[in-house]
Amino acid sequence: MNTPRPLLKPLDTALAELLVFAQVLKDVEQVSTFDADTRVLAQDVVSPLQVPPQDNSAMDGYALRYADIPRAGVVLPVSQRIAAGSAGTELQPGTAARIFTGAPIPGGADAVVMQENCEAVGATAASDGEPSQGPAVRFNTLPRLGQNIRRAGEDVSMGSVVLQRGTRLTPAALGLAASVGRPELTVVRRPRVALFSTGDELVMPGDVAPRDMKPGAIFNSNRFFQRALLVRLGCTVTDMGIVPDRLDATIATLREAALAHDLVLTCGGVSVGEEDHIRPAVLALGQLDMWQISIKPGKPFAYGRVGAAHFIGLPGNPVSSLVTFLLLVRPFLLSLQGMRDVTPRAVALRADFAWPRPDRRREFLRVRHNASGGLDLFPNQSSGVLTSAVWGDGLVDTPPGVVVAPGDMVRFLSFADLSA
Ligand code: AMP
Ligand code: MG
Repeated sequence: MNTPRPLLKPLDTALAELLVFAQVLKDVEQVSTFDADTRVLAQDVVSPLQVPPQDNSAMDGYALRYADIPRAGVVLPVSQRIAAGSAGTELQPGTAARIFTGAPIPGGADAVVMQENCEAVGATAASDGEPSQGPAVRFNTLPRLGQNIRRAGEDVSMGSVVLQRGTRLTPAALGLAASVGRPELTVVRRPRVALFSTGDELVMPGDVAPRDMKPGAIFNSNRFFQRALLVRLGCTVTDMGIVPDRLDATIATLREAALAHDLVLTCGGVSVGEEDHIRPAVLALGQLDMWQISIKPGKPFAYGRVGAAHFIGLPGNPVSSLVTFLLLVRPFLLSLQGMRDVTPRAVALRADFAWPRPDRRREFLRVRHNASGGLDLFPNQSSGVLTSAVWGDGLVDTPPGVVVAPGDMVRFLSFADLSA
């Protein structure tokens, strides 16, 4: 067969090219703020108010006029009681207000002394563990001007953008959106992804008992982590199962998959061997670029188009498939949803292992944190050994041809970040 030899492409180049193809999906939808975790905002969230709305107390205690307490030990009459959710009245000079956390500061007050530093005077017995309250209060400490007052607008000023378009929402972001009164948010719609695996050797768990597996058969593991990762990334997944290693079957499944999906994602069959039918099948229906990405594990990778759908073909070896998913498919899917800055962030950590025989390709080693803050290496780094990715809590991204010695600082990418 006359197949052109694909180019070896650096990972960064591959990612940059892939992201150019990942035009943001046009459709947006309104979702309840409750349901918006991990979705990507299609519009800025602008605050119609300031947060907090008014000056309020950071403590349970007494609000007072600073000028009324020239020294510790002064006693002031308590002229009002202000709980959170109620509004006080102007504080009369020479008096204090009993106040609780979150309650608005009364006009004229300019400091709050926490109750632990006050003593009720002329108190009646307290109930339910509440400090006793009296008609007057003694201040045992000298307050600072403005002490324990949370200022209006110190969190959010009116008219400010609290969350930018392109933000992938976190639980804290949902709270912030709610704090400016938003019950719903406008997000980019979920990408629709069709998924299938190729390979005559593949069997689904449950279809055949392990003891009855034919020689050469293996269970389909990739389908499970791919589907789980797609769901975590906010995609709607159509799982089209396993396609046998035949060109006609591959074309038929691909044709169906390309209808009504934004992305067709496959694994296996992406090399240029006789049993690899992805390339001719995609070429029969659309366009395809075969990329040999210069990373280990994970070399073969294909990007193409079938009709209106994007096509991505991942390698079959489980760890290659996982690593290329995390490094390329994940940023692609986040970009489709309009997320800005999709490149995973690495941190510098100490290698407590040696990597004396580096590959000519950039490598992604399965490692995990040890108790002394360094990284240990999984002993078997083969691209078929999925155990490494479960034992590990991330990848060391190590440059081509560079030896790692114990104590060296390396670039670490955590699985927690890469699969969130
Ligand atoms: P391929 O890319 O089709 O040549 O497959 C490379 C290796 O990955 C072979 O050993 C396959 O059996 C294995 N493989 C392919 N697809 C899967 C899958 N879905 N789950 C587990 N292993 C797979
Ligand atoms: Mg195969």
